[in-house]
Amino acid sequence: MQKDNRVLSPEQVALQQDYIEKNRVFYLDRLKRQPLGCVVTFGCQQNEADTELIKGMMVDMGFALTETPEKADVLVFNTCAIREHAEMRALGNVGETSHYKKANPNMLVCICGCMVQQQHVADKVKASYPYVDIVFDTHALWRFPEFLHERLSGSRRIFDLSGDERGLILENIKPVRKERPSAWLSIAYGCNNFCSYCVVPYVRGRERSRRPEDIVGEAERLLAQGYRDITLLGQNVNSYGSDLEGCCAFPELLRRINALPGDFRVRFMTSHPKDATHELFDTMAACEKVCRSIHLPVQSGSDRVLKRMNRRYDSEKYISLVDYARKLMPEITITSDIIVGFPGETEEDFEQTVALLEKVRFDSLFTFIYSRRKGTPAYDMPEQVPRDVKQVRFDRLMELQNRISWEKNEKYVGTMQRVLIDGISEDKNYELSARTEGFKLVHLRGDRSMIGEYADVLIERNSTWALFGRMV
Ligand code: SF4
Repeated sequence: MQKDNRVLSPEQVALQQDYIEKNRVFYLDRLKRQPLGCVVTFGCQQNEADTELIKGMMVDMGFALTETPEKADVLVFNTCAIREHAEMRALGNVGETSHYKKANPNMLVCICGCMVQQQHVADKVKASYPYVDIVFDTHALWRFPEFLHERLSGSRRIFDLSGDERGLILENIKPVRKERPSAWLSIAYGCNNFCSYCVVPYVRGRERSRRPEDIVGEAERLLAQGYRDITLLGQNVNSYGSDLEGCCAFPELLRRINALPGDFRVRFMTSHPKDATHELFDTMAACEKVCRSIHLPVQSGSDRVLKRMNRRYDSEKYISLVDYARKLMPEITITSDIIVGFPGETEEDFEQTVALLEKVRFDSLFTFIYSRRKGTPAYDMPEQVPRDVKQVRFDRLMELQNRISWEKNEKYVGTMQRVLIDGISEDKNYELSARTEGFKLVHLRGDRSMIGEYADVLIERNSTWALFGRMV
């Protein structure tokens, strides 16, 4: 077991601070104006949280941030490798930059994140995208100022994929977060589970937990800044602390954050069912600030498929967890992930997944068609399921789950819900969007000045995806 988690040393922090200063001066001298930085993010919440750190380093280097890639002086693509589609989209966007560089030859194009962590993709970028200046890996995010300085000092293209699986943890950079009231708070990086279809352990490395005092300290700062809804992030939050001697486990971390003063909500993702314990649900039930809402990916209803996925639980264990949680917290909302078309999945296996959905009745579901990922065990498994069969199963699951989600949301009509108003509604008939404790999306009328406030709302109607109400 690792003696202590690996946080940047003061010397490494000072070195990067030095590069930050050099880059700031360089751009002011060269441009005689504030440089513009842009980060395009693909993939999961963890990537969004990493992007907030990259933006934090850009701001420290004197950059203003833009959401318009072609306007940027430094353009970073923070990429995802979870499915082929995500890679195609990212590479398509990167291809566009060849035009941007014709308009601004000094623009620097950088790629980081899980996609380029894969050597075969990094080689492809090196060979086919000559206008890409810097490629660096997820474990070396903290060296971004250094890579920028090297490139600005005349080095040729930089491909740094040192791939140190036990990447150092960045504790000194102030992230540039999205607007209040919701914030991501990373508690651990990497994953040790090696589900046979998943590329994450190969691109994000081994589990590294942040120290509980750093996490609680960051939560305190977020609350002081007016954030009201904090989501704790990790590939598998349930194994938090297992890599750190003397560290508390996840339920204890929840209790420590729950003990902070203030009126706020705590959420967390992602929970691996194999490590979800009764203590976790007991803690959720006992802690008033921890939301009665959990994302618990099941992936399949077939024990045979779960075994081939190396998930290390079976459907009986999964259902017993759900039953325990619902007995303790009848109002809990449960969402999940399902992969259809995993290699070797038979009609019978698929019917077991359908049966599990009908039994558990998730509030909502993220359904994915299995995507072969190079370097994962499932990539070479026999009996790859034909695309058309996958599509039929996908469509059938979506239809079933849409009906269940609708029926579950219908139960909220006529009830009062305490919601947190967190933004502008995408429904043109409503001004505001909000979230219940169960993370249900609520559209309501009201003034934008109420964003960040709690409100008591009478739910008047529902759809498959959302609730609609009015403040009372
Ligand atoms: S728990 Fe499994 S699916 Fe999730 S990130 Fe880890 S290896 Fe991937």
